[in-house]
Amino acid sequence: MPNANASKSPVVVRFAPSPTGFLHIGGARTALFNWLYARANGGKFVLRIEDTDRERNSPEAVEAILDGLKWLELDWDDEPVSQYSRADRHKEVAESLLADGNAYRCYLTQEELAAMREAAEKEKRPFRVVSPWRDKDPADAPKDAPYAIRLRSPQDGETLINDHVQGQVTFANKDLDDLIILRSDGSPTYNLAVVVDDHDMGITHVIRGVDHLTNAARQSQIYKLMGWTEPEWIHVPLIHGPDGAKLSKRHGALGAEAYREMGYLPIALRNYLVRLGWSHGDDEIFSTEQLLEWFDIDAINKAPARFDIQKLEAINAHWIRATHPDELFDRITHLLPHLPHGDEVSTAFSAGAGRKLHDLIPAMQERSKTLLDLIDGAKFIWAERPLALDAKAAKLLDDETRQMIARLLPALEHQTEWSAQSIEAKVREFTDNEGLKLGKVAQPLRAALTGTTVSPPIFDVMAVLGEHETFARLKDISH
Ligand code: GLU
Repeated sequence: MPNANASKSPVVVRFAPSPTGFLHIGGARTALFNWLYARANGGKFVLRIEDTDRERNSPEAVEAILDGLKWLELDWDDEPVSQYSRADRHKEVAESLLADGNAYRCYLTQEELAAMREAAEKEKRPFRVVSPWRDKDPADAPKDAPYAIRLRSPQDGETLINDHVQGQVTFANKDLDDLIILRSDGSPTYNLAVVVDDHDMGITHVIRGVDHLTNAARQSQIYKLMGWTEPEWIHVPLIHGPDGAKLSKRHGALGAEAYREMGYLPIALRNYLVRLGWSHGDDEIFSTEQLLEWFDIDAINKAPARFDIQKLEAINAHWIRATHPDELFDRITHLLPHLPHGDEVSTAFSAGAGRKLHDLIPAMQERSKTLLDLIDGAKFIWAERPLALDAKAAKLLDDETRQMIARLLPALEHQTEWSAQSIEAKVREFTDNEGLKLGKVAQPLRAALTGTTVSPPIFDVMAVLGEHETFARLKDISH
């Protein structure tokens, strides 16, 4: 198994996003695996923003990624490192490789490279740069011509990556051409920057997507030529859609903020994401403590994981049921600024609806899959009188049921307390007297009080609305 030395030093892992967009689901899982590994081993979890591509880089994207991590409650250590700010150091390492003869100046022009590519295509062989400058005398170099610095990669033998997930992977060195480490404009290339940063930041374990496996071979060559210790490699499988195709927006490959706006709980998303590529027996639900106890990089699966939004929804429903109402309420209030109709709900909350929604949460938890379901299930609270009735509610409230509600009203008056139990007792007395089944009264009441035919238990609805509002709404439809 992978090299035993590195695993003895204190764990330092990193998440190294390129800030070109939001924190997507694959990135969130990579961050989570790193975070879990650091926290479970008393190690450090650091961030490195790979912002060397100045054209594609944006400060808003950095903010979105940090915001996504904060929402997921994946806290990091130290200040995030900007890769771009370390360009001088990358250059310094490129120069030292050059000085040691482990790299060389390559004066190949774009035209020469294009001709090589063309020749390879014609001969139907894979294109691989063989630079004549590898062995040329530097004294023959054209004066003042631009050059790139290429690594003097081994040409024979193999580069071996001992990966915790992928096992032993070998790359024939003849297939890996001499990598450019510094471009002719003096900027470092990705593979050089990653190695220098990982080394300087003391990264012990590189946990990232398997799409970087070939980069690991390139990077391993740089480590060797620099005489540095390689980190442990952990290349995790990619996430596919339920149809087996690469995950796309169509499958729900959205940014973390989209899941927040859909009313998911961070613990549910973490719980779901960790299962994409890792398992612990048949367990599906994990508390953070259990994850910290059980998560293990050597138990990450090799096969691609399949993203399944329904499963995420079921896990979220579990965590909605298992979370304390106070916390759910707190999360709802934090969610409102991110929702299109959030202002309207916030205004209603300030006018007293917030407290009522809070009190109704226990009655709604069982049937709610998301925080949006909780808000939606309670929106009758701030609906304005006279209530708009949906089609089913309107149909239920015919002359007969309206008259029945008019007869019920006096039975509900003059109660010493207004609670779900006391209301239920009165309504049951009424149904017994009238020889009616409870449902025959509950459904029209629901229609009249909520404008719909689905709501939390009707006596909870009445208790939360309060005596005054209940009577007002019932009177609205009973004459
Ligand atoms: N910046 C790379 C990415 O966003 C990750 C590099 C790495 O983890 O080594 O895919």
